Formats: sequence, structure tokens, C-alpha cells
Amino acid sequence: SAPSPAKGSSGRVKVVVRCRPYLKKELDRGEGEKEIPFILVPEEGKVELPARSENEQSQAMVFDHVYDMNSNTQDVYNEVLKDMIESTVEGYNVTTFAYGQTASGKTFTMMGTDERPGIIRLSMQTIFNYFKQNTTESRTFLVRVSYMEIYNEKVFDLLSKDHKQVKVLQDKNKNIAFDGLREEVVRDVEEVMHIIKKGENFRSVEKTFANDNSSRSHTIFRMVIERKEEFELNEEVNGKNVTKKKTIVRIGNLNLVDLAGSENASKHDSDERAREGKNINLSLLHLKNIILRLSKGQKIESFRDSKLTRILSQSLGGNARVAVLCAINPIYDNYGESKQTLHFGNCAG
Ligand code: ADP
Ligand code: MG
Repeated sequence: SAPSPAKGSSGRVKVVVRCRPYLKKELDRGEGEKEIPFILVPEEGKVELPARSENEQSQAMVFDHVYDMNSNTQDVYNEVLKDMIESTVEGYNVTTFAYGQTASGKTFTMMGTDERPGIIRLSMQTIFNYFKQNTTESRTFLVRVSYMEIYNEKVFDLLSKDHKQVKVLQDKNKNIAFDGLREEVVRDVEEVMHIIKKGENFRSVEKTFANDNSSRSHTIFRMVIERKEEFELNEEVNGKNVTKKKTIVRIGNLNLVDLAGSENASKHDSDERAREGKNINLSLLHLKNIILRLSKGQKIESFRDSKLTRILSQSLGGNARVAVLCAINPIYDNYGESKQTLHFGNCAG
């Protein structure tokens, strides 16, 4: 069938597909000898899904960019995200989502490793570089970061030692506020990474006691960027020339979101899992609806339906810039989930 129309990068939502390589354990069990269930065509930003039976039709979908197994996060960042991320210093609201089945590379792309930095570190480099080059006597920047997790429609502060629960509030101007969320003022990249690591360590302590819930929770790294410009204005008052000091403050928000595994939206195995699954399902569905409207330039009616969309409401309205990174894996038996992820991305674009 014909590919869906090219998305181009003019829209407000950029959609990228990235397929991770086979892992060693997968190669060891012979996954590499099976055929890969889809065909990636990075030059055309295209993914083809061949028909797998006689009564199935082949499909092709076009995205802003497609990255195959040999790609690296730095390229994804430079080609898709860097300009968008940099616009936060001018007061734009930018959100990047990593969407996909568990173990498809969401965290690898967002957080990365020490050797292979993820989107968070790369974004911090861009932003702090900008500050370095653009701070003057009259132009200053102040940034705060927070790091939270949404699990079962409850929000937890990953920067607090006991991962305290956070209340999400809304003032009468519909601005989102948090009760109990730690916000740290940060001055450089290393400071940010250190704070995140500390938060992660709190989490890994917790992991040994309870189940690892990273596949069933959404993680939001948030940065608020305040740009303050002071200047003097010459005015004539009663025939006299006076100099007045003016200050303009612009605020940009950056949200880097590692979403819960999308398979939770369909599979449940126990009552507890079913409840988690239902919550994840709902929040991913609300998110999808909002992104869909955003991409079409339509007004968004309500953000209130889930914690995730509520927290992001300010960043997704108005001058929002959004990127969706769809993470897929090459495993033959995961075809169904990969297809679902590609469809999500295709709708979002
Ligand atoms: P998710 O967050 O979607 O559950 P992860 O990011 O944890 O998935 O990735 C699953 C595994 O695959 C991890 O061991 C990770 O290091 C590895 N991995 C993911 N993406 C890549 C990549 N692009 N290159 C190399 N290894 C990757
Ligand atoms: Mg993960």
C-alpha cells in the first residue's frame, strides 16, 4: 500500500523511530538468525511492515527520521532535538517522550550510560553552553531541575531520599504547582547528572525490596529555565529625559519523559497488574489524544484526565514543541508490540 504522506518537520510534533541492536543474550539464543519483522529505510524516514500472511497487507509509514541498529544517540540528538531543546532558553516549552515496549531502548536513549550519553546529558550540554556564551551583565539565567515518577496515578519525588509522594495542584490561573517536590537550582551539567544519579541510587535501594517498577511507571525529568534581561529605557516625563530600568523575564520548560512500557497498555496478569495496566493504558491514551490534537493544531479540551497530562499541561499548550521517540526492538516475536508502537508514532506525527 502507499506510504502515508510525509510528515516533514514543519509540524509541532516531530516523530522519530529508533530500533535498538540485538543484545548479546538475544544473539546467543539465535534471534539474529531470524528475520527482522520490519524494514527500516533511514534515507526515506520510512518503515515497511511486510505482509506476514496471505490475508495481511503490507504497510509503510513515514516519520521525521528513522534510526536503525547502528545509530547513536548523539546523531538522534543533533538531527532532531538540539534546536528544539535550545529554544527553551528563549521561553519555549519543549517536551520529548520516549515511547515503546519495555526493553526497546527508551532509557538507553533518554538517560544513556557513562560512555554513551543520553538525551538528558546532551540537552544539559546545549543549555549550559548557551548560558556560557550568552550571559552578560544585563542578561542572566537561572535553572531549576526536578525529577519525578508517576506510578499508579501517584507522583513521587525521585530527588528525595524516601521518594516522597508529591501533590499536583493547580492555581486559579491554571498553572501547575507541586506540593512536596524538590527543585534544585543547578549551575552546570555535572551537577545535574550528579543529582539524577543520587536520585537513581535511592531508587535502586528500593528495587531490592520491591519489584522493579520502572516498566510500569513514567519518569519525568523537568527543567525550568528563567531568562532575565534588564535594560534601560529613556523616556520623556514632563519634558525631562529620565532613564527607567526595565526587566523582562521569560520562562521556558523542558520535560524529558521516559514513558511506562507500552505493552502494559494491553497485557495484564494479576489484579494488581491489571490496575497498573489500566492506569498506564489510560494515561498513554490521553497522551495520544493530546499529541494528536497538537499535531493537527487543534485546541486541547482537557488535561485533567491523567497525572501525566496534567503535569505536562502547561508545556503542551501554547508555544509547545514536542518530539516523540518511538523505541522498537528487532525481535521477531515482538512484531505485534513494535507495530503498535509504530502506529502510535504514525498517529502522533
Ligand atoms: P527500556 O527503557 O525501553 O525498557 P532499555 O533502555 O533499558 O529499554 O534497553 C534495554 C536494553 O537494551 C539495555 O540493556 C540497553 O543497554 C540496551 N540498548 C538499548 N538501546 C540500545 C542501543 N541503541 N545500543 C546498544 N544497546 C542498547
Ligand atoms: Mg526503561
